[in-house]
Amino acid sequence: MRIGVDLAAGEIAVLALADDGSVLRRERGLAAAIRYEEMLETVTSLVGAIEGALGTKGTVGVSLPGAISAKTGRVKNSNNANLIGADLRNDLARTLRRDVRIGNDANCFTLAEASDGAAASGVVVVGLILGGGVGAGIAIERRVIEGVNAIAGELGHNSLPWSNDEESARVRCYCGKTGCIEQFLSTAGLQRAYKARTGSYVSADEITRASAARHADASACLAEYEDRLARVLGSLTNLIDPDTVVIGGSLARNAIDYGTLRSAVARYAFTDRLDTKIVPSAHGDAGAARGAAMLWPAASNL
Ligand SMILES: [Zn+2]
Repeated sequence: MRIGVDLAAGEIAVLALADDGSVLRRERGLAAAIRYEEMLETVTSLVGAIEGALGTKGTVGVSLPGAISAKTGRVKNSNNANLIGADLRNDLARTLRRDVRIGNDANCFTLAEASDGAAASGVVVVGLILGGGVGAGIAIERRVIEGVNAIAGELGHNSLPWSNDEESARVRCYCGKTGCIEQFLSTAGLQRAYKARTGSYVSADEITRASAARHADASACLAEYEDRLARVLGSLTNLIDPDTVVIGGSLARNAIDYGTLRSAVARYAFTDRLDTKIVPSAHGDAGAARGAAMLWPAASNL
């Protein structure tokens, strides 16, 4: 049995996979943005609850919003400040009494989608998460590329491609740069764009609902969002030319029209025709925990 823990969600999500990939059980706990010690206790008790209910022990993989520094072994690049600098792998190994594997959340999402999700037929796959943040992972033949600095796929902190003067001067990012892709394609980025257009600050869900009801400002805002996303995917296509791009996160379903997005990407990519598949995720919110479980091979011995 393989257990996957997702620390990236609003609440900690844990699931157990059978060797055939079916979900045996799920548990959910407190928000991951709690005090660090409390998070360790919550993960340990959720894993214990699953193992108690199923009567067997499992391997544990963790989906982390951030990366583990190769230099220090500690968490870096996390949007959860409680995790930065933490010795997460050793602390969880101690409380769970076993080795723990940790993967970046976008990498875990990509691994799950490339293994048995919407990108299962893909060879070179990019998984893109569009939600509270913007992250991506790259998998080749179902193997995630981590990179020597553990940041492969961190395109949220590249600058928006083919940006105009207004876009490049626009927003300062928490990473210290200005004009990062995340500042345009995250939920907060969409909300900011809508406020710039209308003066009102509403949720991303309200914007997508208003667009579906043919509200002109909301539709224009989503068209602008789609064009920016197309520039990112066009630029990505020029760089690694994936055969499949799978999109997850809270904006993946309602904010994107996959037909028009594909045509827009074709305009930006340097090719006479675009054969790339661009699809929404199959596993939805469960993808990161599922991919975390998959950090261990099926039928691993503890
Ligand atoms: Zn940034």
